[in-house]
Amino acid sequence: NELVVSFGEMLIDFVPTVAGVSLAEAPAFLKAPGGAPANVAIAVARLGGAAAFAGKLGDDEFGRMLAAILRENGVDDSAVVFDAGARTALAFVTLRADGEREFMFYRNPSADMLLTADELNVGLLKRAAVFHYGSISLIAEPCRSAHLRAMEVAKEAGALLSYDPNLREALWPSREEARAKILSIWDQADIVKVSEVELEFLTGIDSVEDDVVMKLWRPTFKLLLVTLGDQGCKYYARDFRGSVPSYKVQQVDTTGAGDAFVGALLRKIVLDPSSLQDQKKLEEAIKFANACGAITTIKKGAIPSLPTEIEVLRLMENA
Ligand code: ATP
Repeated sequence: NELVVSFGEMLIDFVPTVAGVSLAEAPAFLKAPGGAPANVAIAVARLGGAAAFAGKLGDDEFGRMLAAILRENGVDDSAVVFDAGARTALAFVTLRADGEREFMFYRNPSADMLLTADELNVGLLKRAAVFHYGSISLIAEPCRSAHLRAMEVAKEAGALLSYDPNLREALWPSREEARAKILSIWDQADIVKVSEVELEFLTGIDSVEDDVVMKLWRPTFKLLLVTLGDQGCKYYARDFRGSVPSYKVQQVDTTGAGDAFVGALLRKIVLDPSSLQDQKKLEEAIKFANACGAITTIKKGAIPSLPTEIEVLRLMENA
Protein backbone atom coordinates (compact mmCIF):
# COMPACT_ATOMS: atom_id res chain seq x y z
CA ASN A 1 0.00 0.00 0.00
CA GLU A 2 1.49 3.32 -1.11
CA LEU A 3 -1.37 5.72 -0.39
CA VAL A 4 -0.52 9.09 1.17
CA VAL A 5 -3.58 10.88 2.54
CA SER A 6 -3.01 14.57 3.28
CA PHE A 7 -5.49 16.34 5.54
CA GLY A 8 -6.25 20.03 6.04
CA GLU A 9 -6.72 23.23 4.09
CA MET A 10 -6.70 23.99 0.40
CA LEU A 11 -7.13 27.62 -0.50
CA ILE A 12 -6.23 30.33 -2.95
CA ASP A 13 -3.21 32.52 -2.37
CA PHE A 14 -3.37 35.89 -4.06
CA VAL A 15 0.18 36.95 -4.85
CA PRO A 16 1.30 40.32 -6.27
CA THR A 17 2.05 40.42 -9.99
CA VAL A 18 5.32 42.20 -9.17
CA ALA A 19 8.03 41.13 -6.71
CA GLY A 20 9.11 42.85 -3.52
CA VAL A 21 6.04 44.95 -2.71
CA SER A 22 3.85 45.18 0.38
CA LEU A 23 0.21 44.07 0.07
CA ALA A 24 -0.84 47.72 0.04
CA GLU A 25 1.62 48.58 -2.75
CA ALA A 26 0.74 45.58 -4.96
CA PRO A 27 -0.77 46.81 -8.24
CA ALA A 28 -2.62 43.51 -8.90
CA PHE A 29 -2.76 39.92 -7.71
CA LEU A 30 -2.55 36.52 -9.38
CA LYS A 31 -4.49 33.60 -7.96
CA ALA A 32 -2.26 30.72 -6.91
CA PRO A 33 -3.83 27.53 -5.57
CA GLY A 34 -2.21 26.44 -2.33
CA GLY A 35 -2.60 25.23 1.22
CA ALA A 36 0.30 23.16 2.47
CA PRO A 37 -1.54 19.82 2.87
CA ALA A 38 -2.96 20.10 -0.66
CA ASN A 39 0.50 20.94 -2.00
CA VAL A 40 1.89 17.81 -0.34
CA ALA A 41 -0.79 15.60 -1.94
CA ILE A 42 -0.07 17.08 -5.36
CA ALA A 43 3.69 16.73 -4.80
CA VAL A 44 3.24 12.99 -4.16
CA ALA A 45 1.00 12.54 -7.21
CA ARG A 46 3.36 14.52 -9.50
CA LEU A 47 6.10 12.08 -8.49
CA GLY A 48 3.91 9.20 -9.65
CA GLY A 49 2.56 8.21 -6.24
CA ALA A 50 -0.92 7.50 -4.93
CA ALA A 51 -2.26 10.52 -3.05
CA ALA A 52 -5.53 11.80 -1.66
CA PHE A 53 -6.50 15.12 -0.13
CA ALA A 54 -9.09 15.32 2.66
CA GLY A 55 -10.70 18.63 3.56
CA LYS A 56 -13.56 21.03 2.96
CA LEU A 57 -13.98 23.65 0.24
CA GLY A 58 -16.64 26.27 -0.36
CA ASP A 59 -19.36 25.26 -2.81
CA ASP A 60 -18.32 28.19 -4.99
CA GLU A 61 -16.30 28.87 -8.14
CA PHE A 62 -12.99 28.73 -6.28
CA GLY A 63 -13.84 25.55 -4.39
CA ARG A 64 -14.82 23.73 -7.57
CA MET A 65 -11.70 25.08 -9.29
CA LEU A 66 -9.48 23.70 -6.51
CA ALA A 67 -11.13 20.26 -6.60
CA ALA A 68 -10.57 20.20 -10.35
CA ILE A 69 -6.88 21.02 -9.80
CA LEU A 70 -6.59 18.04 -7.45
CA ARG A 71 -8.16 15.72 -10.05
CA GLU A 72 -6.10 17.11 -12.95
CA ASN A 73 -3.01 16.31 -10.94
CA GLY A 74 -4.11 12.76 -10.21
CA VAL A 75 -5.01 13.36 -6.56
CA ASP A 76 -7.99 11.39 -5.21
CA ASP A 77 -10.62 13.95 -4.14
CA SER A 78 -13.15 11.48 -2.74
CA ALA A 79 -12.54 12.86 0.76
CA VAL A 80 -13.23 16.46 -0.31
CA VAL A 81 -16.54 17.86 0.87
CA PHE A 82 -18.21 21.17 0.00
CA ASP A 83 -19.89 23.67 2.29
CA ALA A 84 -22.87 25.46 0.79
CA GLY A 85 -22.80 28.17 3.43
CA ALA A 86 -19.14 29.21 3.57
CA ARG A 87 -16.53 30.41 1.11
CA THR A 88 -13.27 28.79 0.09
CA ALA A 89 -10.47 30.42 2.11
CA LEU A 90 -8.40 33.20 0.54
CA ALA A 91 -4.98 34.44 1.59
CA PHE A 92 -3.25 37.52 0.23
CA VAL A 93 0.47 36.98 0.62
CA THR A 94 3.60 38.85 -0.40
CA LEU A 95 7.32 38.71 0.15
CA ARG A 96 8.30 42.31 0.80
CA ALA A 97 11.60 43.85 -0.30
CA ASP A 98 12.86 43.62 3.32
CA GLY A 99 12.45 39.82 3.19
CA GLU A 100 9.40 39.76 5.48
CA ARG A 101 6.34 37.78 4.44
CA GLU A 102 3.06 39.65 4.82
CA PHE A 103 -0.22 37.69 5.05
CA MET A 104 -3.89 38.70 5.03
CA PHE A 105 -6.38 35.87 5.48
CA TYR A 106 -10.07 35.77 4.64
CA ARG A 107 -11.44 33.07 6.94
CA ASN A 108 -14.53 34.21 8.81
CA PRO A 109 -14.97 31.26 8.92
CA SER A 110 -13.94 29.68 5.64
CA ALA A 111 -15.19 26.27 4.49
CA ASP A 112 -12.00 24.41 5.51
CA MET A 113 -12.62 25.39 9.17
CA LEU A 114 -16.12 23.88 9.07
CA LEU A 115 -15.25 20.26 8.30
CA THR A 116 -16.91 17.99 10.87
CA ALA A 117 -15.88 14.54 12.10
CA ASP A 118 -19.08 13.14 10.54
CA GLU A 119 -17.93 14.32 7.12
CA LEU A 120 -14.68 12.35 7.16
CA ASN A 121 -14.24 9.67 4.52
CA VAL A 122 -13.36 6.98 7.03
CA GLY A 123 -12.95 4.30 4.37
CA LEU A 124 -10.23 6.31 2.65
CA LEU A 125 -8.47 7.20 5.92
CA LYS A 126 -8.29 3.51 6.78
CA ARG A 127 -6.47 2.79 3.52
CA ALA A 128 -3.68 5.32 4.17
CA ALA A 129 -0.10 4.09 4.46
CA VAL A 130 0.81 7.60 5.60
CA PHE A 131 -1.57 10.19 7.05
CA HIS A 132 -0.12 13.70 6.78
CA TYR A 133 -1.37 16.94 8.39
CA GLY A 134 -0.44 20.41 9.57
CA SER A 135 -1.62 22.62 12.41
CA ILE A 136 -3.94 25.14 10.72
CA SER A 137 -6.75 22.58 10.95
CA LEU A 138 -6.26 22.54 14.74
CA ILE A 139 -7.09 26.22 15.23
CA ALA A 140 -10.89 26.20 15.28
CA GLU A 141 -13.82 23.85 15.84
CA PRO A 142 -15.40 21.88 14.31
CA CYS A 143 -12.36 21.21 12.08
CA ARG A 144 -10.12 20.64 15.09
CA SER A 145 -12.24 17.66 16.24
CA ALA A 146 -12.40 16.31 12.69
CA HIS A 147 -8.60 16.53 12.51
CA LEU A 148 -8.12 14.68 15.82
CA ARG A 149 -10.63 12.01 14.80
CA ALA A 150 -8.96 11.53 11.40
CA MET A 151 -5.58 11.03 13.09
CA GLU A 152 -7.12 8.44 15.39
CA VAL A 153 -8.81 6.52 12.57
CA ALA A 154 -5.67 6.48 10.40
CA LYS A 155 -3.40 5.47 13.27
CA GLU A 156 -5.72 2.66 14.41
CA ALA A 157 -5.73 1.33 10.87
CA GLY A 158 -1.93 1.21 10.87
CA ALA A 159 -0.92 4.40 9.04
CA LEU A 160 2.27 6.28 9.84
CA LEU A 161 1.40 9.80 11.02
CA SER A 162 3.35 12.66 9.43
CA TYR A 163 3.21 16.20 10.87
CA ASP A 164 4.46 19.48 9.40
CA PRO A 165 3.11 22.22 11.68
CA ASN A 166 3.46 24.93 9.02
CA LEU A 167 3.18 27.73 11.54
CA ARG A 168 1.06 30.71 10.49
CA GLU A 169 1.18 32.94 13.55
CA ALA A 170 -1.39 35.41 12.21
CA LEU A 171 -4.10 32.73 12.23
CA TRP A 172 -3.83 32.01 15.97
CA PRO A 173 -5.38 34.05 18.78
CA SER A 174 -1.95 34.26 20.48
CA ARG A 175 1.59 32.86 20.27
CA GLU A 176 1.01 30.90 23.49
CA GLU A 177 -2.07 29.21 22.10
CA ALA A 178 -0.29 28.41 18.85
CA ARG A 179 2.57 26.78 20.72
CA ALA A 180 0.28 24.85 23.07
CA LYS A 181 -2.04 23.54 20.35
CA ILE A 182 0.78 22.68 17.93
CA LEU A 183 2.47 20.70 20.71
CA SER A 184 -0.79 19.13 21.94
CA ILE A 185 -0.58 16.47 19.20
CA TRP A 186 3.22 16.34 19.07
CA ASP A 187 3.62 12.94 20.75
CA GLN A 188 1.30 11.14 18.35
CA ALA A 189 3.34 11.62 15.19
CA ASP A 190 5.80 9.16 13.69
CA ILE A 191 7.43 11.67 11.35
CA VAL A 192 7.76 15.38 12.11
CA LYS A 193 9.25 18.11 9.94
CA VAL A 194 9.94 21.63 11.16
CA SER A 195 11.63 24.67 9.63
CA GLU A 196 14.27 26.72 11.45
CA VAL A 197 11.64 29.33 12.30
CA GLU A 198 9.33 26.69 13.77
CA LEU A 199 12.19 25.17 15.74
CA GLU A 200 12.87 28.55 17.35
CA PHE A 201 9.16 29.22 17.90
CA LEU A 202 8.60 25.88 19.63
CA THR A 203 11.79 25.71 21.72
CA GLY A 204 12.31 29.43 22.35
CA ILE A 205 15.97 29.01 21.32
CA ASP A 206 17.48 30.45 18.14
CA SER A 207 19.85 27.58 17.30
CA VAL A 208 19.78 24.39 15.22
CA GLU A 209 22.30 22.59 17.44
CA ASP A 210 21.42 18.95 18.17
CA ASP A 211 20.63 19.58 21.84
CA VAL A 212 18.03 22.20 20.83
CA VAL A 213 16.44 19.99 18.17
CA MET A 214 16.34 17.09 20.61
CA LYS A 215 13.99 19.10 22.83
CA LEU A 216 11.39 18.30 20.17
CA TRP A 217 12.27 14.60 19.95
CA ARG A 218 9.94 12.01 21.48
CA PRO A 219 10.77 8.33 22.12
CA THR A 220 7.86 7.28 19.89
CA PHE A 221 9.16 9.23 16.87
CA LYS A 222 10.60 7.44 13.86
CA LEU A 223 11.99 10.57 12.20
CA LEU A 224 12.41 14.26 13.03
CA LEU A 225 13.58 16.66 10.33
CA VAL A 226 14.68 20.28 10.40
CA THR A 227 14.72 21.87 6.95
CA LEU A 228 17.30 24.61 6.42
CA GLY A 229 16.42 26.16 3.04
CA ASP A 230 19.40 26.09 0.65
CA GLN A 231 21.43 24.34 3.36
CA GLY A 232 19.34 21.16 3.04
CA CYS A 233 18.22 19.52 6.27
CA LYS A 234 19.14 17.77 9.48
CA TYR A 235 17.55 14.43 10.38
CA TYR A 236 17.13 12.54 13.62
CA ALA A 237 16.04 8.90 13.72
CA ARG A 238 15.95 6.49 16.64
CA ASP A 239 19.43 5.05 16.10
CA PHE A 240 21.20 7.63 13.96
CA ARG A 241 21.23 11.26 12.90
CA GLY A 242 22.96 13.46 10.38
CA SER A 243 22.53 16.19 7.80
CA VAL A 244 22.10 16.17 4.04
CA PRO A 245 23.03 19.21 1.90
CA SER A 246 20.67 20.40 -0.82
CA TYR A 247 21.35 21.07 -4.51
CA LYS A 248 22.49 24.37 -6.01
CA VAL A 249 19.75 26.11 -7.97
CA GLN A 250 18.80 29.63 -9.05
CA GLN A 251 16.20 30.41 -6.41
CA VAL A 252 13.26 32.54 -7.58
CA ASP A 253 10.39 31.75 -5.17
CA THR A 254 10.61 29.32 -2.25
CA THR A 255 6.84 28.92 -1.87
CA GLY A 256 6.06 25.23 -1.60
CA ALA A 257 9.67 24.04 -1.15
CA GLY A 258 8.85 22.58 2.25
CA ASP A 259 5.74 20.86 0.91
CA ALA A 260 7.64 19.44 -2.07
CA PHE A 261 10.30 18.17 0.34
CA VAL A 262 7.67 16.47 2.52
CA GLY A 263 5.78 15.00 -0.46
CA ALA A 264 8.98 13.53 -1.91
CA LEU A 265 10.11 12.09 1.40
CA LEU A 266 6.72 10.50 2.09
CA ARG A 267 6.71 9.05 -1.43
CA LYS A 268 10.06 7.37 -0.72
CA ILE A 269 8.92 6.13 2.69
CA VAL A 270 5.74 4.46 1.42
CA LEU A 271 7.77 2.79 -1.32
CA ASP A 272 10.21 1.43 1.26
CA PRO A 273 9.22 1.89 4.92
CA SER A 274 12.50 0.25 6.00
CA SER A 275 14.18 3.56 5.01
CA LEU A 276 13.22 4.79 8.47
CA GLN A 277 15.55 2.24 10.09
CA ASP A 278 18.37 2.21 7.54
CA GLN A 279 20.62 5.28 7.52
CA LYS A 280 21.88 4.76 3.97
CA LYS A 281 18.38 4.38 2.55
CA LEU A 282 17.13 7.31 4.60
CA GLU A 283 19.90 9.58 3.32
CA GLU A 284 19.03 8.56 -0.26
CA ALA A 285 15.38 9.42 0.39
CA ILE A 286 16.35 12.79 1.92
CA LYS A 287 18.61 13.60 -1.02
CA PHE A 288 15.67 13.00 -3.32
CA ALA A 289 13.45 15.19 -1.09
CA ASN A 290 16.07 17.99 -1.02
CA ALA A 291 16.28 17.90 -4.82
CA CYS A 292 12.50 18.04 -5.05
CA GLY A 293 12.44 21.04 -2.67
CA ALA A 294 15.25 22.76 -4.58
CA ILE A 295 13.49 22.42 -7.97
CA THR A 296 10.35 23.95 -6.52
CA THR A 297 12.25 27.21 -5.81
CA ILE A 298 13.31 27.74 -9.45
CA LYS A 299 9.87 28.78 -10.66
CA LYS A 300 7.16 31.04 -9.23
CA GLY A 301 4.28 29.52 -7.27
CA ALA A 302 3.96 26.21 -5.44
CA ILE A 303 1.83 23.82 -7.49
CA PRO A 304 3.16 24.77 -10.95
CA SER A 305 6.73 24.21 -9.68
CA LEU A 306 6.26 20.71 -8.25
CA PRO A 307 8.48 18.34 -10.26
CA THR A 308 8.02 14.89 -11.76
CA GLU A 309 10.34 12.08 -10.70
CA ILE A 310 12.36 12.41 -13.92
CA GLU A 311 13.02 16.09 -13.25
CA VAL A 312 14.21 15.32 -9.72
CA LEU A 313 16.51 12.53 -10.91
CA ARG A 314 17.92 14.81 -13.61
CA LEU A 315 18.90 17.47 -11.04
CA MET A 316 20.51 14.78 -8.87
CA GLU A 317 22.48 13.33 -11.78
CA ASN A 318 23.72 16.69 -13.01
CA ALA A 319 24.82 17.87 -9.57
P1 ATP B 1 8.22 26.82 2.74
O1 ATP B 1 7.46 27.14 3.99
O2 ATP B 1 8.81 28.03 2.04
O3 ATP B 1 7.51 25.92 1.79
P2 ATP B 1 10.06 25.43 4.55
O4 ATP B 1 10.59 26.56 5.36
O5 ATP B 1 9.11 24.49 5.13
O6 ATP B 1 9.50 26.00 3.15
P3 ATP B 1 12.65 25.10 3.38
O7 ATP B 1 13.68 24.81 4.39
O8 ATP B 1 12.57 26.45 2.81
O9 ATP B 1 11.25 24.60 3.97
O10 ATP B 1 12.82 24.12 2.13
C1 ATP B 1 12.61 22.73 2.20
C2 ATP B 1 13.72 22.01 1.50
O11 ATP B 1 13.78 22.43 0.12
C3 ATP B 1 15.09 22.30 2.08
O12 ATP B 1 15.37 21.40 3.12
C4 ATP B 1 15.98 22.09 0.87
O13 ATP B 1 16.26 20.75 0.68
C5 ATP B 1 15.13 22.56 -0.29
N1 ATP B 1 15.40 23.97 -0.62
C6 ATP B 1 14.68 25.06 -0.23
N2 ATP B 1 15.22 26.20 -0.71
C7 ATP B 1 16.31 25.84 -1.41
C8 ATP B 1 17.31 26.54 -2.18
N3 ATP B 1 17.31 27.88 -2.30
N4 ATP B 1 18.29 25.82 -2.79
C9 ATP B 1 18.33 24.49 -2.67
N5 ATP B 1 17.43 23.77 -1.98
C10 ATP B 1 16.43 24.41 -1.36
